[in-house]
Amino acid sequence: MPISEELFERARRVIPGGVNSPVRAFRRLERAPFFVARAQGAHLWDEDGREYIDYVGTWGPAILGHAPACVMEAVQRTVPNGLGYGIPTRVEVDMAEHLCRRVPGMQMVRMTNSGTEATMSAVRLARGFTGRPYIIKFAGCYHGHADSLLVSAGSGALTGGQPDSAGVPPEFAALTIVLPYNNPAAVEQAFKQYAGKIAGVIVEPYPGNAGFYLPKPGYLQFLRDITAREGALLIFDEVMTGFRISTSGVAGKEGITADITTLGKVIGGGLPVGAFGGRRDIMECVAPLGPVYQAGTLSGNPVAMAAGLAQLTHLEEHDCYGRLEALGARLEEGVRAALHDLHLPFTFKRSGSMFCLFFTEQDVVDLETASSGSFPMFKQYFLSMLEQGVYVAPSPYETGFISTSHTEDDIDRTTAAMRNALAALAK
Ligand SMILES: *Cc1c(COP(=O)(O)O)cnc(C)c1O
Repeated sequence: MPISEELFERARRVIPGGVNSPVRAFRRLERAPFFVARAQGAHLWDEDGREYIDYVGTWGPAILGHAPACVMEAVQRTVPNGLGYGIPTRVEVDMAEHLCRRVPGMQMVRMTNSGTEATMSAVRLARGFTGRPYIIKFAGCYHGHADSLLVSAGSGALTGGQPDSAGVPPEFAALTIVLPYNNPAAVEQAFKQYAGKIAGVIVEPYPGNAGFYLPKPGYLQFLRDITAREGALLIFDEVMTGFRISTSGVAGKEGITADITTLGKVIGGGLPVGAFGGRRDIMECVAPLGPVYQAGTLSGNPVAMAAGLAQLTHLEEHDCYGRLEALGARLEEGVRAALHDLHLPFTFKRSGSMFCLFFTEQDVVDLETASSGSFPMFKQYFLSMLEQGVYVAPSPYETGFISTSHTEDDIDRTTAAMRNALAALAK
């Protein structure tokens, strides 16, 4: 039996589903996940010695590829001084200054240990600052697994949210209004119906958790304008897109400044880090300055800060975004050529190093259209790619990530594998 399968059998006895985060279990794919032994650059090696070109990139953080020299060096430099003290350190100030310099509207920032903590705290802060109870989120946008945000598909645009998870009483989710993305009228209507009661709108400015798709022109500006007009806060959840789409995230690229921005993934350089920050008067509500409580035993951990800062500094000092765009464009060209040649009408979305192939002919603009793809086709495609040594995310609802470590040759081998996998579907 392959070593990965043996490990998975052991894992399933002692870890729910054998994994520490659900998508890793490959459940709907009817095969065991592979267990990784090591990774370098754009490549992974599993416990059975098989090599893969990786487009999951630790689900976003590995923008320089795995184990980049600058990050490894920062960790090795920091570790001999101790792993953390729970007392302020210099590197936390360096990190906060870097984030405030780069992220539009970020005047103060608080570090957390995950994206979930960052978004949960941002929502608490929006409620504490405005003194209002309701939050608007969009169907298909993922903001971590805090109770009030684990709500995706409300039955109607303006009915109270239906909890996605058992263990979230409807009462907990009743203050979360779930609306379709890219639909300004729904937002207008909610602000009318809940006048003076909406604390904020939380949004993935480029949604990357139901596949990857983009805002219609003017949509993010509309959210900026209506929240400002209504005295609600605009929260950009850039946990995935921050320092991925540009050094200043989607906000910088689109020229829109949110009131609060949440970060994670890339800013930790592969270690567990999140952050939320924004306008000074809002952030001054956070404890110990203000009444909104938020804390963390390991928050601002010096090893994690050093790793993250090394990655962010590298991104700033080299032309990484130019390279990521060039690699992304090369991949897109190859995919589009294959789809064209094989007469497959599938939808492909990309911005820079983020991409998604949807097994549907519909344009994808929200959760409904993102869910219109064929799962059996995705499954066949995924298994074929894996067989050919290319690891794309094991779910049709995930974004693909390119790193600066991918080579032109990696991209060309990938598009050749895609062409093979898609050709089998065209038959
Ligand atoms: C990954 C993600 C989160 C949650 O971050 P974790 O570190 O997994 O808790 C929140 N928001 C968005 C947009 C994400 O992509």
